[in-house]
Amino acid sequence: MRVKVGLSIGGGVRALERIDPRELAGLGLRSVFVACAEDEMRWHAEEAAGFTRSCQTAELEVYAVPLGYGKVMDPDPSVDSLYVREHPRNLQLDSRGRRCGKACPNNPAFLEWFSSNMRTLAWLLECDGFLWDEPSFYFARGSWACRCDYCQRLFFAQHQQALPVDLDERVVAFRRTSIVMFLLAAVAAVHAADRRLLSMVMPGSTVTSREAGIGMDGWESLLESSAVDQLSVYAEWQTQGRDLEATIRSTHEAAVRATRARQKGSVLWLGGSPHPRDKLLEGLQLAQLAGVEHLVIAGHQSLMGSAEFGKFRKSLARVIEQVN
Ligand SMILES: [Zn+2]
Repeated sequence: MRVKVGLSIGGGVRALERIDPRELAGLGLRSVFVACAEDEMRWHAEEAAGFTRSCQTAELEVYAVPLGYGKVMDPDPSVDSLYVREHPRNLQLDSRGRRCGKACPNNPAFLEWFSSNMRTLAWLLECDGFLWDEPSFYFARGSWACRCDYCQRLFFAQHQQALPVDLDERVVAFRRTSIVMFLLAAVAAVHAADRRLLSMVMPGSTVTSREAGIGMDGWESLLESSAVDQLSVYAEWQTQGRDLEATIRSTHEAAVRATRARQKGSVLWLGGSPHPRDKLLEGLQLAQLAGVEHLVIAGHQSLMGSAEFGKFRKSLARVIEQVN
């Protein structure tokens, strides 16, 4: 089994300026996942578009990862969203009556704005698909969202009952369905630009459906939807103090079990740097043994931004060639 090895690129437009896609292709990489932050795309979409064009010239597959954009997606609290700051009335309302720092995926005005932005992004960037990174509702100990007017009305229309105050099973299912509907809208928007664009989703890596809307326990509802072509999962072993081999194998096997019956694919993410404690080379070889088809190294900054990368480059290229 050959492993397609990719790399995620965060760090925004400034990082893109310093990256030569031909160098990535020279390492044996075959895909890149490019973070596209809302606040940057307002002013620098052309630079991002130029970068994706050069990636395609270098024969790299390109996937866009929208960050910000109302923060329905996006697990990273450091990414800002001008939409969130400017539209407080379209944000999720939690069970204590407070607005949260995330737009409501059921709010029609937000949905329209979001769809229009995704359509524009899909027009601008030469890419093969989109990755929707951890779409979720707000959740904290003792409070959950969303109880805005739109969610209340939608729940009532579906159940002929008021939206419960407690996060019971009906609410959990409602939040899950809402996230899937949101993804369907996102995919319809990018397909308006290009029907061939692939849609991948990364469910919340450590959270449950109860917490997020869709977490590690909610894959089924995602995969049943036409909004999702591929499931993206993170082999999280470093932060969890787990064994690298066991984590790669069990994460990949769980993804294959969930996707195979529906003829959908999966992508495995692995944190990586030149530092021996990150065991990147070993991870690549283990991924091949486990039967992983597409492995994404997260990410450019920790790998190629490291002072050690110069010495590491040769061995990385050699191992990528072995597994590819
Ligand atoms: Zn709402």
